[in-house]
Amino acid sequence: MITAKAQGKINLVFQVGPLRPDGYHEVASIYQALMLEESVSVEPSDSWLVEASGRVPGIELVPTGEDNLVVIAAKALAEHVGIANPQPMKFTILKQIPVAGGMAGGSADAAAALVALNQAWELGLTAEELAVVGAKVGADVPFALLGGTAFGRGTGTELTKLENQKELHVILIFSNEGLSTKTVFDAFDQVMPDGDSVDSELANNYQDLIGHNSLLPAALALRPQLAQLLELNFGLNGGYLSGSGPTVWYYSESYPKALAAFEMVKAFGYKAILTRTSPLGARLT
Ligand code: ATP
Repeated sequence: MITAKAQGKINLVFQVGPLRPDGYHEVASIYQALMLEESVSVEPSDSWLVEASGRVPGIELVPTGEDNLVVIAAKALAEHVGIANPQPMKFTILKQIPVAGGMAGGSADAAAALVALNQAWELGLTAEELAVVGAKVGADVPFALLGGTAFGRGTGTELTKLENQKELHVILIFSNEGLSTKTVFDAFDQVMPDGDSVDSELANNYQDLIGHNSLLPAALALRPQLAQLLELNFGLNGGYLSGSGPTVWYYSESYPKALAAFEMVKAFGYKAILTRTSPLGARLT
């Protein structure tokens, strides 16, 4: 059995432009990996199977068959290298990333699956080639492969690694009910038909924009009760919307400050995690 891991992410900044004729949105984003990670093990099987476990909200929503992103990634990988009838595999996923929380858990699983299968099928693909396959699976998969901090352009798949981001302590507050990424983007097209401005120089000036998320008005339109939570800051920076939500995040460079805030968050009765940023990307374990 071969195992790989990949991290969940937040977008430190998420700028989304208008809907393009090809159905995609242009984005400029600063992606940041978190210490929360997924583990994906692969082994040959009679049919494509996925078993996911973990004490995370929404675990029951994870598909157990061919519509799971790890199987979609496996088939995209096989097609890329010209294998017509790939060996079906069983995937065992240990999840730490809440499902449908805007933290790219499914994309992290796909990234880990690509790394594990590259080894299991002895393909020898480079990181760049895996990223090309990953981009076909989902816009967040190339970042889940790369990890750390990165500037993303295009649909989010054209990445430049950023080296100087300081470590941040991050509190994530989860909602009981996820928000579908597609639903949030559809609402975005309604509430901001002209899109938000997308800055090609974002990598040079993002520090002042940390927390900006173009999808916020759309997420609030769909989930008005998020407004109350977003107004609380627990003495930290935030709250900010993670990706397409509904996860809300706060940060501090100081661990004692973050810990004190985390105690407050728990006293309010919120379901939350205190984590920190990670320099890691997808890798074999
Ligand atoms: P993103 O921010 O990348 O859009 P997300 O973090 O909001 O995603 P995910 O946890 O990736 O959301 O999952 C969204 C949906 O994708 C789930 O409701 C589920 O139906 C489907 N899905 C497919 N494969 C997976 C997987 N391996 N893990 C979680 N969800 C998956």
